[in-house]
Amino acid sequence: MKEQIKQIGQEALNEIASSGANKDSLEALRVKYLGRKGIVTGLFKKLAELPSADRPEIGGLINALKNDVTRALDEKLFLTARDEDAKDHIDVTLPGVSRGPGRAHPIMQTIDQICDVFISLGFKIVEGPEIETEHYNFEALNIPLEHPSRDAFDTFYLRSSQKHLLRSHTSPVQARFMEKNKPPFSIIVPGRVYRPDATDASHSFMFHQVEGLVVGAAIKFSDLKGVLEIFAKRLFGRSTRMRFRPSFFPFTEPSAEVDISCILCAGSGKHNIGSEIHRCSLCGGKGWLEILGAGMVNPKVFKNVGYDPGKVTGFAFGMGVERIAILKYGISDIRLFFENDVRFLRQF
Ligand SMILES: [Zn+2]
Repeated sequence: MKEQIKQIGQEALNEIASSGANKDSLEALRVKYLGRKGIVTGLFKKLAELPSADRPEIGGLINALKNDVTRALDEKLFLTARDEDAKDHIDVTLPGVSRGPGRAHPIMQTIDQICDVFISLGFKIVEGPEIETEHYNFEALNIPLEHPSRDAFDTFYLRSSQKHLLRSHTSPVQARFMEKNKPPFSIIVPGRVYRPDATDASHSFMFHQVEGLVVGAAIKFSDLKGVLEIFAKRLFGRSTRMRFRPSFFPFTEPSAEVDISCILCAGSGKHNIGSEIHRCSLCGGKGWLEILGAGMVNPKVFKNVGYDPGKVTGFAFGMGVERIAILKYGISDIRLFFENDVRFLRQF
């Protein structure tokens, strides 16, 4: 009987090991050995015929055999199920999932285009914090306490601190840079800025600016004009003309608003459609588009950062990136940039 049990055990384990890896053949083996009329079950029945003195030992051997067969079947079943599962999930014959190439956001593309022009002119890119102190956002830039842009309604102050705010322009970076660096230098500062404007087709509470600052000995207004003219022609085309209008900014003196000739009507202010003459919709018939503000750095700003205004001069300019992108791509609504609609974004 012992010999028989041992033999059955070996046969069963061999058969399980060499069985095809599928659930049906394993179930057939389970029935063959462990079923109600199975071989192992038959051994238990024979146990009753043995002398009672032999029953505990033989009974133990049959139980061990039953456990061995059960474990071997369970293991094989587990491996089979795992392999089948893997087959279900990895079908190497399936065509691949194609992911189209990504691209930069139109605002980032515009920032890159703007920066590329200035980098080619020897400017260096500098960035700074978006959470600023009142000092760098206002005082260092000669913006007095009573200036309207310091009003709480014109700036996002952080609730935890009346002295910290989201920068309302990228100019604080200029002050930070000047404190740590000595002229001469030419820097360009791209970045996000914040103003509590109600959102509409031409306003957003968050937008992007690129500012430039050049400081050195004997930097002149004509240098500013030359640099901006190169910029306008590179970005909007060779035939682009430029004009300066007197303006005011606390941190520059003198200051100017800079216009380019309208990119839609080439400065004429009108379109001829057949024999009819229409007023240009982009420039409103004026022939000019305002693109940036600029000027010579106010000597007070130099004093604030520890430069001697008698020894250095410089110019600064700043532009809204969304404004440039809207003009360049003919976009009607600033909100399109920030709604993350891929149908819009894919066009760039
Ligand atoms: Zn026009």
